[in-house]
Amino acid sequence: TPETAEEPSTKLLHSNEGFAKVVAYHYNQLEEKGQAERSKSRIVHLRNFHNWIKSMLISEFISKIRGSKYNEPIRVLDLGCGKGGDLFKWQKANIKHLICSDIAEVSLEQCKQRYTDMKHRNNRNRNGDVFSIEYIPADCTKARLREKYNDPSLRLNLVSCQFVFHYSFESLPQAERMFMNAAECLQPGGYFIGTMPDSNDIIARAKKNNTRTFGNDLFEVSLDFDTNDPPLFGGKYHFQLDGVVDCPEFLVHFPTFVELAKKYGLKLERKEKFYDFYERVKEDGMQLLTNTRSFEAYPPPEGSSLVGTAKDDYYHADEYLKSKGNVQIGTLSKSEWEASSLYLTFVFVKVKPTSWK
Ligand code: SAM
Repeated sequence: TPETAEEPSTKLLHSNEGFAKVVAYHYNQLEEKGQAERSKSRIVHLRNFHNWIKSMLISEFISKIRGSKYNEPIRVLDLGCGKGGDLFKWQKANIKHLICSDIAEVSLEQCKQRYTDMKHRNNRNRNGDVFSIEYIPADCTKARLREKYNDPSLRLNLVSCQFVFHYSFESLPQAERMFMNAAECLQPGGYFIGTMPDSNDIIARAKKNNTRTFGNDLFEVSLDFDTNDPPLFGGKYHFQLDGVVDCPEFLVHFPTFVELAKKYGLKLERKEKFYDFYERVKEDGMQLLTNTRSFEAYPPPEGSSLVGTAKDDYYHADEYLKSKGNVQIGTLSKSEWEASSLYLTFVFVKVKPTSWK
């Protein structure tokens, strides 16, 4: 049994070891639900939309890599892979090798099971080989992953970090270690892609409401710090999403994120709010969108400032979502849009070979 089976005391852990075990406990005890059960969830369309965003982001960069390294087998690190929600995306991308790492050991076990099932299905349908895989249970903000790789000289083409990086902003050393893990084995020209909450938006919404807590019937964000003086690291807030996520998270000040990345040879190529990403790629992705289990997305109503309003410098951010009454946006409800518009996508390119020891 993983040591996270007992609920850890938040207070105690914070003074000694930080929040890693609290986060791991939370994800470990999330039940593995089948697809039928998942489709009954109140946030099914939100989930599908986020899966669509990840699929489009992954396929965009897989194509770029293929364009430049035509015959090279593609190797990927899924940093904070969870239960392996992206395994099928990697299969579709036809990669050669995947490294899956996560702090939540139970989730990683579920990831293994999903991979085995996928492989059997593939064999049964004679669909050819599935990529090879290795699993690394680790706190990626503390451990040095390369030392745990089957082959530490491995060169990666892509590192994907979906809804995870913000956990590392608990402290500077943790954020640095996370960047080291993301960048160390990435070959020059390789990409580091991901999704995470947009701290501008978080601060802007709290300021707008003049309260440390905001949200709606689906989610709640509760800040543990003064919005007029947010810390660069350790800016803790509690995030709750329809009983699925209920966890301490940390604010990622984006300019700091970009500066730190440089230290590891990573150059920001793009940062986009989910809605802007959607607007840009929706034409290409329509087919996939409609295939994503009954998901239909329409943009927020004309003139709505549901997304992308906060300024980069969130110390001055005062713009905020304007409520539009009870408008339904396609099958994404207004409440789901309010949750989804908290997130952004980022893309870094490795510009310098690794030089640190
Ligand atoms: N990337 C997966 C996806 O998109 O489905 C999972 C995302 S889930 C929201 C966040 C994941 O980050 C959880 O599986 C959690 O265990 C993992 N995580 C949080 N802190 C971590 C850490 N310090 N090291 C490794 N994984 C961590």
